[in-house]
Amino acid sequence: MSTDLLVQLGTKGAETIIKVTKDALGNAIKDKGASQSIGFPETNYYLPLINALLKIEVKTLGDCLAVLKQAEGLNNNQPASDGFKIDALGGVLNKGIATIICEEILAALKEDHAGFLSDTLLRSLGIQLVDGRISGIAVILGPAKDEDSAVQLIRDFQSKSIVSILVGNVGGNSFKKQLENKKVELGLEDYIVPLGEDYLSAIYAVNWAVRASLMYGGLKSGQWQEILKYTQQKVPAFVVLLSHVDEVIVATGLGVLAMGFPIITDLEVPQLGKIDTTLYEALVTEKDYKKIVSKCIEVRGLKVKVTDIPVPVPYAAAFEGERVRKEQLHVEFGGKAKLAFEYLTAKNINEVEDGKIELIGPDIDQLKKGSKSLPLAIIVEVYGRKMQKDFEPILERQIHRFINYAMGLMHVGQRDMNWIRISKDAFSKGFRLKHIGVILHAMLHQEYSAIVDKVQVRLYTKESDIEKLLPAAKKTFEERDERLSGMTDESVDTYYSCLLCQSFAPNHVCIVTPERLGLCGAYSWLDAKASFEITPTGPNQPILKGKMLDKRLGQWDNVNEFVKQKSNKTIEKVSMYSLMDSPQSSCGCFECIVAIIPEANGVMIVHRDYSGMTPCGMTFTTLAGSVGGGVQTPGFLGVGKLYILSKKFISAEGGLKRVVWMPKELKELLADKLKKCAQDLGDPGFVDKIADETIATTSEELIKFLKQVKHPAMVEMEPLI
Ligand code: SF4
Repeated sequence: MSTDLLVQLGTKGAETIIKVTKDALGNAIKDKGASQSIGFPETNYYLPLINALLKIEVKTLGDCLAVLKQAEGLNNNQPASDGFKIDALGGVLNKGIATIICEEILAALKEDHAGFLSDTLLRSLGIQLVDGRISGIAVILGPAKDEDSAVQLIRDFQSKSIVSILVGNVGGNSFKKQLENKKVELGLEDYIVPLGEDYLSAIYAVNWAVRASLMYGGLKSGQWQEILKYTQQKVPAFVVLLSHVDEVIVATGLGVLAMGFPIITDLEVPQLGKIDTTLYEALVTEKDYKKIVSKCIEVRGLKVKVTDIPVPVPYAAAFEGERVRKEQLHVEFGGKAKLAFEYLTAKNINEVEDGKIELIGPDIDQLKKGSKSLPLAIIVEVYGRKMQKDFEPILERQIHRFINYAMGLMHVGQRDMNWIRISKDAFSKGFRLKHIGVILHAMLHQEYSAIVDKVQVRLYTKESDIEKLLPAAKKTFEERDERLSGMTDESVDTYYSCLLCQSFAPNHVCIVTPERLGLCGAYSWLDAKASFEITPTGPNQPILKGKMLDKRLGQWDNVNEFVKQKSNKTIEKVSMYSLMDSPQSSCGCFECIVAIIPEANGVMIVHRDYSGMTPCGMTFTTLAGSVGGGVQTPGFLGVGKLYILSKKFISAEGGLKRVVWMPKELKELLADKLKKCAQDLGDPGFVDKIADETIATTSEELIKFLKQVKHPAMVEMEPLI
């Protein structure tokens, strides 16, 4: 196949798709009328690709007609109405864009949108993408040459922390089926996301990728040059085309290349070196399945964190969410089964022998007949010149993640509420208890070498030992909690920045204080402090607060100056405690949104998992669309869940007492702590005055309820505006 043939096929493919779309749209309008609404579920971006590139908000079938016209123009190399036109490769990529635009319309015309990936899903992945837990996104089109090759390829991608999105089939055979036949678990938590068995579903991966630029990049629809640059440079996606190609796939491929995503294939195709829209090679053949993953990494320029841990099971972040079910269980510890706890503590230099791993008690190949559980204490002792007492709980919390990265191991909870399972498969591969020590030793060194010099691990499996050791550990847990809850913003002179999300939202700056954690919920002040010790030039920088400018709003001169510089001068000042006056910006991966409800003189809070309607007339997804992108939006604020419980929670506006509504699930999740806050406020019954969706989903219902319960926002608090 020559490059000319590729162009010929692409041209034919684009024409075919335009015709199919024209017919399908014509029929739909004939049946249902032009005013019939059209769209995807749980997105604030209409038909996201079209919205982003052409600045058209498609809401009805009639709106699609205008889009189709633009696609036809692009197919003939004429610029779209917002000027969109790509000159690379002699303009042939415009045919590709015309194709994927039509494919988005075709996908929206379908009754079933099962493969569509919601805005919420993209937001929930934000942190994993920025902190490197996800190093890339492979869109796999078509089945592998055989089932074993499919498993090998997917395991290779998982071990490199690359998420695989599965699309398409050839004669009924798909990559998804191949994996299912081999009993491979699928799901986002396993880094494998099947979108659909038809090739058209690939558009869901494309319109998902394009949303990142609007959600995190602070870009507006119609800024197509910036958007394409963003997808090229910030969205680490690429296509793996297997077993089959036809003219429509070629045309779609041209669209994908226009967005900067290279294609790696096992097919004999002409090779395309770097083109203007890609960072490196555009189209590459690799027939050896063992080499496909490394070729993808090279061609997309991915930065993969390799975790080479000497244990007999695969080890990578991709296995973090894997479950070990009852039927796969070899042994479990903790949970309801047996007593267990884990504890990490700092010791003096002479008390720690680096790499020493001891098992005191029977191993998992010495279980009593018929038994599937053992008690377990994991005691990790570390020494480090820069280690501090404050870092102990942070390192201890990593035990959860580090154990979960091992394939066939499941870890839930922490401290003396942990629950660990080891699968039959991991056991038969040779996994034994000492390997938990091997993992913890290696990972603590790998990720925390700046503060940890020596690590030793002891594992106890005799109940009498555990009963003896537990009380001292529990005492430390309590002391740590007390110390943390006693920490206030006033008790420190330094706050920390978090700039991690700038790789997606270039102007966003989180300021993390003892009483306000990062809006993603993942970084507390102590986490940021430890992270700075570990990587002094990293995203968490200390900010000496400086002169207080406004106590009520929570403004300091050095904080303002830092935010101004790091937000690329887009933010002049920031209030740590206010929703209304210069609030913090939001990047997009917030756990919750706080939004003003003027008529209630209060605020509502909605969390990411709540998909229903809220009294401000918007769902989480719609609200999130106007809050993210690294901009300040007075009246709206992205926050971490735990900040709601802080004494500094929007204290400039009256704090928790301003909250008039939150979803039932969120209320229940925070129930005990909310009640404690209410008591501290001197209003023990306050939590019951906060409405939820079972009471009100409209502003009218809400006001009626608030008046009934005499909510403080309605009866005693100052006007918000
Ligand atoms: S603390 Fe802020 S900047 Fe840092 S990862 Fe979380 S949301 Fe992103």
